[in-house]
Amino acid sequence: MKLKYAQLPEELYTNAFPDIFEKSYVVFWNEKLTNTFPDACIAEEFERLVNGSDQWSKQPLAMAYAGHQFGHFNILGDGRAVLVDEWKSSEGFLHDVHLKGSGATPYSRRGDGRATLKAMLREAIMSEAIHALQIPTTRTLAVLNTGDQIHRNGMEKGGLLARVAASHLRVGTFEYASTHESEDVLKALADYTIARHYPQCASAENPYLSLLKEIVRVQIDLIVNWMRVGFIHGVMNTDNMSISGETIDYGPCAFMNVYDPKTCFSSIDTAKRYAFTSQPGIAQWNLWVFANSLMPLIHENPKVAKEMALEVIEEFPAQFGAAYYKMMGQKLGVEINTQEGREWVEELLSIMQETHSDYTNSFLFLEGKEMSEVYLASNPRFELWSAQRNDFNKIEKENVNPVVIPRNEWVERVLAEAVDNDNWELFQSYIDRLKNPYESQSEDVFSIFNPKNDLSFKTFCGT
Ligand code: AMP
Ligand code: MG
Repeated sequence: MKLKYAQLPEELYTNAFPDIFEKSYVVFWNEKLTNTFPDACIAEEFERLVNGSDQWSKQPLAMAYAGHQFGHFNILGDGRAVLVDEWKSSEGFLHDVHLKGSGATPYSRRGDGRATLKAMLREAIMSEAIHALQIPTTRTLAVLNTGDQIHRNGMEKGGLLARVAASHLRVGTFEYASTHESEDVLKALADYTIARHYPQCASAENPYLSLLKEIVRVQIDLIVNWMRVGFIHGVMNTDNMSISGETIDYGPCAFMNVYDPKTCFSSIDTAKRYAFTSQPGIAQWNLWVFANSLMPLIHENPKVAKEMALEVIEEFPAQFGAAYYKMMGQKLGVEINTQEGREWVEELLSIMQETHSDYTNSFLFLEGKEMSEVYLASNPRFELWSAQRNDFNKIEKENVNPVVIPRNEWVERVLAEAVDNDNWELFQSYIDRLKNPYESQSEDVFSIFNPKNDLSFKTFCGT
């Protein structure tokens, strides 16, 4: 089986070189991550890029894809990114190396193909934090200041991000493949996906139905983990849902502070489509889009294919519910496997919402720690809720309740210091602190925040 993306049918990509940025220089370099790729000449490749002395040694390409954006179908593709290489990690798996903000491609439409330095550094902070929280994600290898200015809110510094992913296959890649008349493109993509990510499906009775089940499984795992740490992706369009089950596309994402199920920071998401507790339902919606793309491979009779796919997608709520409440039980140190247990968890969330308590700190408070921004005990229902804890079997699990998450005001402050004031010390100490999110530290300044600042906080796509 050919594993390189460029060996897939040519409908699925277009060759495209990144721009050369003669004045660029590295501002973030993830040394530890580069060491997981023993055979890659990463530093040399970057040297060439940074010096503008040469093109990349490989033939880069922009991937074609489509996607449902806020529910509407569009043909898209890498409009400001290119796949420059595929590297084998020390564990033997192939990883994509992608540049983001690298210049226009044939898929750019009206965009400039560029990115701001602030947005790329934000992706570095968020993706590395998500990784340290033990949640699957694309990783940030490096960020470059391109040395020039781009037009956004006035003129802003340009940035370039190099990221590593298990792959950049998206639900939208399958949507794109399924628009082609010939089924060969779709089949080649599905077989490639199975060989690269889910080899166990190849020997299944129906490999494509098995692929669908695997992707439902990894997405449930991913979203449950997001809910565990209060992460809001912000733009769960189908083109931003990864087939490998990694968190991808750090645009308007943010972490929730005060618990409110409708928390949504994205400036363009006025209908709150991608709010915190809407994420599981949206994932199911996206998986149904994926299932629709796969149907011609699942069964030759469209009616039968639909029935088979529907059966898998309809299992989502029950599977998600079981995984979600199991995780919430772990956060609370008890086993949750009954309806009564689920209601007990919901009661806590309701108290948290009513008292405007901080999500992260509430779970630490319930572990017995003294925490700020937690007002659970002021609610008359809390005493009973607390007593009911004894009704459940106790369990212990490490690394479920983070001590530090990227609080919005800290992320903004660190980015402003780095980009506007050239203070990289704060940036580095922030990145270092986020590497150990489960570790309590004395005088932990990055845990201090003012919840009022979230009232006006907004995030943005495509900056
Ligand atoms: P996103 O909102 O980042 O998921 O992007 C949606 C689509 O818009 C993708 O096809 C991107 O490649 C494209 N896009 C975003 N920003 C730009 C830009 N500055 N120039 C060209 N294309 C872009
Ligand atoms: Mg995207």
